[in-house]
Amino acid sequence: MLPGQPPIPTTHPFDDDKLREECGVFGLWGADNASAIVALGLHALQHRGQEAAGITSYDGHGFHSHRGMGHVARVFRDEAVMRELAGRAAIGHVRYSTTGGTGLRNVQPLYADLASGGFAVAHNGNFSNAMRLRGDLNRRGSIFQSTGDTEVIIHLVATSSYRTLLDRFIDALKHVEGAYSLVCLTSEGMIACRDPLGIRPLVMGRLGDAYIFASETVALDIVGATYLRAVEPGELIEVSNDGVRSHRPFAAARPRPCIFEHIYFSRPDSVVDGRSVYDVRKRIGAELAIESPVEADYVVPVPDSGVPAAIGYAQQSGIPFELGIIRSHYVGRTFIQPGDQVRHLGVKLKHNANSSLIQGKRLVLVDDSIVRGTTSLKIVQMLREAGAREVHMRIASPPTRHSCFYGVDTPERAKLLAAQMNVAEMNNYIKADSLAFVSIDGLYRALGEAKRDEAAPQHCDACFSGDYPTSLTDREDLDKRHQLELQDERVA
Ligand code: SF4
Repeated sequence: MLPGQPPIPTTHPFDDDKLREECGVFGLWGADNASAIVALGLHALQHRGQEAAGITSYDGHGFHSHRGMGHVARVFRDEAVMRELAGRAAIGHVRYSTTGGTGLRNVQPLYADLASGGFAVAHNGNFSNAMRLRGDLNRRGSIFQSTGDTEVIIHLVATSSYRTLLDRFIDALKHVEGAYSLVCLTSEGMIACRDPLGIRPLVMGRLGDAYIFASETVALDIVGATYLRAVEPGELIEVSNDGVRSHRPFAAARPRPCIFEHIYFSRPDSVVDGRSVYDVRKRIGAELAIESPVEADYVVPVPDSGVPAAIGYAQQSGIPFELGIIRSHYVGRTFIQPGDQVRHLGVKLKHNANSSLIQGKRLVLVDDSIVRGTTSLKIVQMLREAGAREVHMRIASPPTRHSCFYGVDTPERAKLLAAQMNVAEMNNYIKADSLAFVSIDGLYRALGEAKRDEAAPQHCDACFSGDYPTSLTDREDLDKRHQLELQDERVA
């Protein structure tokens, strides 16, 4: 940081007790000032990644890129930067990182000059065999610029023996496993695709004559575009001056879209796979009230993520909904890496109890999930200190017991409270009067299903069930390496 410059705003430093969506993508083909519209779309997707943002445009002659660390409004605040991103086609990306670290070289879109021309890619998700593929490509002479998983797609396209770019791209996709919603830009057109199970979301919209692809419908709303439909799991859509073509390069499979999009990742004003996120969250709250009722004076949400479920709980139970906790929307923006002392103050800075309301009252406290449990512990303590007589915690998801390998930042398993404790032990840990989670079937009911189909689950719910819908090659390779190291240590 240069003297006199404000610190770079990064991911909210006190939100580290949540699972975090890694990325959001937005692409537009066929409108003047495409990059300005993409910047607005990325702004609407800011909650999906707050550490870095980038846009690559094509103006009919060449490609232009700008990528930077920080929020969208900061990275694209300079008019000169926006003027340079000329053209009627552009793709953009917001990022929170795990795979590959946070360096600028990992900020997307990634771009390469291939034999067939320029190729830019923005990726939401994670290839669960990226390390294996990277090793293979390295041995064949590929030199990587970034340390993330997305660049394998570029090298796989570059080294494919197929002739057309589309066939090379499809060939590349057939080598990767895991979760991906990709938006790619070439001089010929835009390609958008979703992995065969549709783990990560991707929607298609229309703005005048232009086509848009985005991680969430809210990004279409914000730029005034019309929602056309979701990109189907396993579908690849090509948009060019010749029109729109849909391809189905994969064998049909039962989709397994991420269930956590409905619980926390997506904005409540988005529609995910045809369902209003806000409605689903309210229904999860109603299921919680049916499954785990409790006598209380008020239903209080942990703001903001617990609000829709708390409304659902209140409506179902008849207990009044009240704002017993007020959230500051300004805290933390100036911190880059809070030290332990500052982190310790986090909940007090971010949330404050509405003491005059809750004094002597019995509360149902509703949150979307418990990850490490540190925030829940502090919030329960804060409510008690403010005079609450009883605090009954209700969680609008089942216990999070497993890590995600599909582009979501999860702490290692050892740090997930539910991987270490049963519900009674968790309740003791957070010091609530009672604790209950919605059941997995209750969650599926909120999504309009009768229950979870155990033989062929309708969603990816692996962070609750441990039932991963794809192979996890890199993790298996890592486990094997650890086993060999342990054997070596024993022999030595
Ligand atoms: S493991 Fe959890 S967070 Fe990851 S894709 Fe599956 S449901 Fe979503």
